[in-house]
Amino acid sequence: MPTLDTLDVRGKTVLVRCDFNVPLEGGVVSEATRIEASLGTIRELQAKGASKLVLCSHLGRPKDKVEEAWRLKPVGEELSKRLGQHVTTLQVTVGDEAKKAIKAAQAGSIILLENVRFLPGETKGNPELGRQFSELADVFVLDAFGTAHRDHASVTGPCRHIPSAAGRLLQKEVECLGRLLQNPPKPFVTLVGGAKVSDKVEILESLIARCDALLVGGAMAYTFLKAQGKNIGRSLCEADKLDLARELLAKAKARGCVIELPVDHVAGSEFKNDCEIRRDVAEVPEGFMGLDIGAKTAAKYAETLSKAKTLLWNGPMGVFEMENFSRGTKVVGEAFAASKGYKVVGGGDSVAAAEQFGLAARMDHVSTGGGASLEFLGGADLPGVKALREGLKGAAKG
Ligand code: AMP
Repeated sequence: MPTLDTLDVRGKTVLVRCDFNVPLEGGVVSEATRIEASLGTIRELQAKGASKLVLCSHLGRPKDKVEEAWRLKPVGEELSKRLGQHVTTLQVTVGDEAKKAIKAAQAGSIILLENVRFLPGETKGNPELGRQFSELADVFVLDAFGTAHRDHASVTGPCRHIPSAAGRLLQKEVECLGRLLQNPPKPFVTLVGGAKVSDKVEILESLIARCDALLVGGAMAYTFLKAQGKNIGRSLCEADKLDLARELLAKAKARGCVIELPVDHVAGSEFKNDCEIRRDVAEVPEGFMGLDIGAKTAAKYAETLSKAKTLLWNGPMGVFEMENFSRGTKVVGEAFAASKGYKVVGGGDSVAAAEQFGLAARMDHVSTGGGASLEFLGGADLPGVKALREGLKGAAKG
């Protein structure tokens, strides 16, 4: 995959596909991690003498048309503040008006295009739209890891028409997550949780083939426990995935990957923080639901994590957003952070949990991409990364 080390940007107009899909509240950016994360690539391009930077991103889920709530103006304002430089936000994305505005801008300018998902064709990966993006600049930098698993026009299209490279953010994700796929030091232990088995089938299959142990928590654990004939009360369970769970357990056994399931639980009478709670019970009582792993399970998982040389964390161990059901995630999260091995947090809610418990800074890598990191770790060749590798040769296909 080409990177900024080999892309010639001096004196050039550079189109950068970023991931500025940030939360907004009352028309302003309320959480700017993704914007902050993009600054390294932007500053490096400036330092290397790029003439004009044209940034683009999606925001929210507009349906192929302009939706006022999803304009990128608040992102432009936040970027201006963080860069200490005015960022001009256009109200158009591609076409003559955008080209004219970019041409008229002075060298050194930063221009932010309007939301790429306002355009029909973006999420369909329309090749003509991809070409229109490439017409806005001399070279292209893909830095949106969070959408690199999508064959969208602004992600894969420009690579087929102008010299392209991965930005530093995408590069770091591919290198750090890639370390887990290429002969990671053993034992390799994954902590996996979250809501559903069905969301994570590919990653579970891939991990079973690579890991020495899979420590399962969260609602997902109850589908596995039910598949083993355990009583799970009213816990979340995917009744149509019991065979799949049995299959995964059998595959793990055949591969020598130990799947550990909770041996005790924190059960609640309702899905809310203030309800009747039974702590550290070996079985979820009738009428209750398992909402966190129990103390014994947490201690057991923590012990396994402490011996691991490679560690991946994807998904919380319980309903960590509710104080009464957050202990399991906190305890294993702390053990994870304390481990001396190579530690990666793989996107989504585990990132939120690591941040909530003040653990993020102690990790070797915290992935910014939820779906993208799952697909990557599941062994997929991400369309964005593939398009960068193929470069101009991909034009024939596009
Ligand atoms: P995911 O996005 O698949 O990683 O799922 C994360 C969500 O699963 C979080 O919002 C958790 O609150 C929720 N969750 C974790 N454990 C449980 C559980 N035992 N029962 C219900 N929801 C859970």
